[in-house]
Amino acid sequence: MDLLEQKIVTQGNVLSDTVIKVDSFLNHQIDPFLMQKIGQEFADRFSDATVTRILTLESSGIAPATMAGLVVGVPVVFAKKRKPITLADHFSAEVYSFTKKEMNNITISKDFLSPDDSILIIDDFLANGQAVSGMIEIIKQAGASLAGVGIVIEKGFQNGGKILRQQGIRVESLATISSMHDKHITFDKERALT
Ligand code: 5GP
Repeated sequence: MDLLEQKIVTQGNVLSDTVIKVDSFLNHQIDPFLMQKIGQEFADRFSDATVTRILTLESSGIAPATMAGLVVGVPVVFAKKRKPITLADHFSAEVYSFTKKEMNNITISKDFLSPDDSILIIDDFLANGQAVSGMIEIIKQAGASLAGVGIVIEKGFQNGGKILRQQGIRVESLATISSMHDKHITFDKERALT
């Protein structure tokens, strides 16, 4: 059994049939050793793609995205959920937060995305695809291209992955949960981290 799945099973706290808390290694406390492995795995999976920048969303995407950026050797930009007054020219998109049940206007400075960029999006979870779709919207505004999407934990029983893949977008998930019914976690082994 691989490290990520092991962590999810041993340390994940299934709150309902659709929400899992992974605060001990990804969303609050961070396991740097696991993040390093995750960064390497993303770099390996997208080694055939041209990537000039990695894009993520604050805050939980930053750790895996940074470790991937270190291996790929490219900068990591994170979208902000609240626009600081210091941010002048920026791209923005509306994102509905699955866990906080609120709309966020995510923003990125125009200084850090250009039409020459080929962007790899990395995020912690993929549920209904709102966060990733918001980042894709920003990539479009910048005139940049999308190299693909890397997800640490995809919940395969929600429709984000299906929607993105149907658009021809390459989505690589390191662990795909197919069910959390009655707090029992099962994985879609085909897409799991090896
Ligand atoms: P989506 O936008 O795909 O509906 O949801 C993805 C975003 O919601 C991620 O950025 C993540 O922060 C959060 N999220 C979605 N599902 C879960 C979950 O089961 N647990 C946690 N901790 N976060 C989640």
